[in-house]
Amino acid sequence: MTVTHALEADVLRRQDPELADVLLGERERQATTLQLIAAENFTSPAVLAALGSPLANKYAEGYPGARHHGGCEIADVAERLAVDRAKDLFGAEHANVQAHSGSSAVLAAYAALLRPGDTVLALGLPHGGHLTHGSPANFSGRWFDFVGYGVDAESGLIDHEQVRTLARTHRPKAIVCGSIAYPRHLDHAFFREVADEVGAYLIADAAHPIGLVAGGAAPSPVPYADIVCATTHKVLRGPRGGMILCGAELAERVDRAVFPFTQGGAQMHTIAAKAVAFGEAATEAFAAYAHRVVANARALAAALTAEGLVVTTGGTDTHLITADPAPLGVDGRTARGRLAAAGLVLDCCALPHADVRGLRLGTAAVTTQGMGEREMPVVAGLLASVLRGGTEAARAREDVRELTAAFPPYPR
Ligand SMILES: *Cc1c(COP(=O)(O)O)cnc(C)c1O
Repeated sequence: MTVTHALEADVLRRQDPELADVLLGERERQATTLQLIAAENFTSPAVLAALGSPLANKYAEGYPGARHHGGCEIADVAERLAVDRAKDLFGAEHANVQAHSGSSAVLAAYAALLRPGDTVLALGLPHGGHLTHGSPANFSGRWFDFVGYGVDAESGLIDHEQVRTLARTHRPKAIVCGSIAYPRHLDHAFFREVADEVGAYLIADAAHPIGLVAGGAAPSPVPYADIVCATTHKVLRGPRGGMILCGAELAERVDRAVFPFTQGGAQMHTIAAKAVAFGEAATEAFAAYAHRVVANARALAAALTAEGLVVTTGGTDTHLITADPAPLGVDGRTARGRLAAAGLVLDCCALPHADVRGLRLGTAAVTTQGMGEREMPVVAGLLASVLRGGTEAARAREDVRELTAAFPPYPR
């Protein structure tokens, strides 16, 4: 069953043409604009099929073999498959696949290790920390005492000396490494060493790079962190959801922190889809994909630099790039709007040590579409021409249509 078939499925179209048109419209939008949001990707038709399966109907509070509902025999098989595949894929002693999202995974990690009022050291929000790393608008900032480390103003790299100094001064209960915008590999051994020195837990929030880790294209936090939090829908290319990896000694605390502490019934269709995605991620083809994602990001960063944007840290090790478009006469927020109108969809983001906002983009989705290092300068050229304005900018929407038509995300 292709996705085309699923979305135009006669049942839905006959019963609810209005909603069927909405889904069709979104499929068209995704297929005819450039998906450069660093956190997005295209799941496989197999993942979408699992998401649309009757496991969506099943209540399964608890864990395999110990549920609060009857009739969970088959749901148990699905969850055990997902757990075993995740453990194999990442070499982890324990995996919890029930977290509804990346944020839920982080909430559960804190719940497993911390008490309200505890001090936590994490990358500051203006430097690329996630909302769950201490934002006053989020439970994390309300319930814990966050101290933020940052990146160096010159290099854009994490200031390791500052991390060590802040850890010694504040003696946090946990140190968080992980970011929504940091384009470089993290030195997990360094964070482990500092955590050990001050007696803190180390939580790796690997929501972004976990897919690269699965494909062997980024270093794994699993051997170093007490708990690894992740999403399954970013580079990993699975369904929208979260995941937690840890050692056997924390397994029970983590599981109880997810259910019953912060969540109710597991979303069994999503867990089945996670199992499918982990199966895909264990293949040679996915490893090749993960390496292509990074090669494309490097090529795109170089091309953006050549077009005059200032790429943070001078490049990337991952799928993710942040850049300041100021040399082209525009700030990140205005740029995002103009680019969206031309069919280039990406985010604006905080730039460390700057008042203006920058751009954040990634290559996970365009790489899934089959674009390669040849297309990256074309993408950079389109982006820059839109920001510069003029006649080329007026043509950009049509050029984007042509480019995306050559790389359909799903079979037509
Ligand atoms: C994406 C992300 C999250 C949150 O994931 P959601 O599924 O959107 O809740 C948490 N932490 C980091 C570092 C992320 O990049």
